[in-house]
Amino acid sequence: MINVDKIREDFPILKRTVHGKPLVYFDNAATSQTPQVVIDTIVDYYSNYNANIHRGVHTLSQEATDKYEEARIKIQHHFNAKKAHEIILTSGTTHSINMVASGFASLLNKGDEVIVSALEHHSNIVPWQMLCEKTGAILQVIPMNDEGGLEMAIFHQLVTTKTKLVFCNHVSNALGTVNPIEEIIEAAHKVGAAVLIDGAQATPHIKPDVQALNVDFYVASAHKLCGPTGMGMLYGKEEWLQKLPPYQGGGEMIETVTFEKTTYAGLPHKFEAGTPNICGGIAFGTAIDYMNSVGFENIAAYENELLIYATSELLKIEGLKIYGTSKEKTAVISFNVGTIHPYDIGSILDKLGIAVRTGHHCAQPIMDFYKIPGTIRASFSFYNTKEEIDALVVGVKRAVMMLS
Ligand SMILES: *Cc1c(COP(=O)(O)O)cnc(C)c1O
Repeated sequence: MINVDKIREDFPILKRTVHGKPLVYFDNAATSQTPQVVIDTIVDYYSNYNANIHRGVHTLSQEATDKYEEARIKIQHHFNAKKAHEIILTSGTTHSINMVASGFASLLNKGDEVIVSALEHHSNIVPWQMLCEKTGAILQVIPMNDEGGLEMAIFHQLVTTKTKLVFCNHVSNALGTVNPIEEIIEAAHKVGAAVLIDGAQATPHIKPDVQALNVDFYVASAHKLCGPTGMGMLYGKEEWLQKLPPYQGGGEMIETVTFEKTTYAGLPHKFEAGTPNICGGIAFGTAIDYMNSVGFENIAAYENELLIYATSELLKIEGLKIYGTSKEKTAVISFNVGTIHPYDIGSILDKLGIAVRTGHHCAQPIMDFYKIPGTIRASFSFYNTKEEIDALVVGVKRAVMMLS
């Protein structure tokens, strides 16, 4: 059970006002807010043991290295990876995806096929397009349906022995749809294709088990699960990480360097060139501890309550249409009212202290499918309340009155 009043005490930002009104933060799908323990971790790092890692003999460097590697192990346990070195610390989902996409450039041949879903974030479309341009591989798309789900029958037709890679998000950031990734992984493996799952939007609500999923790559961003920005992770099965070439050259990722030949360091360092976001990595570990202390089952149950309540209250507004009505969805509501431009409603809501996202949510193909310029997206977290949803409903009604 979630004691929301107590949880809200953990988030200092929730006490602030915007335009004289209490902040109602419903842009959690873009980034989550940060609990005091994570802020404290960041302050502690810079106040007490800020140093470069992995190369110092001195105490500060050793402390920083220990904490950074402890964070990697926390992340390993959270995702249930078999080995700590299967967790690569990155600057975020986008960085993780590019690391895999660029590595596959050396593994794909002309005419190979790569499948992507129609529900992807741009960061899970563009790197694969670039990969296909480079290699001559062919990009295929699993179409979506009206409910905002994937046309799985078509997916099964697309998967053949020519398929080398499949990319799909676990949860769609624009619509909240939870995709049938188990089915996708199983079908892809039958033909020997690798699967990358974009978990950026799933990880704030679901605790994934990469071994149970038997997924090849799983990526996520710390800033969507109460951690800092500019921090994320790539899980890769050891055999795949061994096969992929390094993404960047530099310090940390080498074993020996001469001008004739450089040999690369082992995992995970092969993929971690340069000084990383040390503080961010350590704070990511704290964020994962915090989320687990709240409990993912509690989070999912409470957010689902908010989703059901908000859906039924919003649908009472005349002319309001919700996009993404899949049975399996997280607490994201994408909507429009009549033909009013989403930006206009979003601006009025901001004046009322309510933060929502408007636009295409980095998923233009979904907007094209529905033939709309964008939506208003309210996305909820476990620190939101029903009272805040009431404020949103009142705000939308007021905006509609002013704009029509
Ligand atoms: C946010 C998001 C991304 C991009 O994450 P970054 O942290 O900006 O790299 C990718 N995919 C999905 C589904 C997202 O929600």
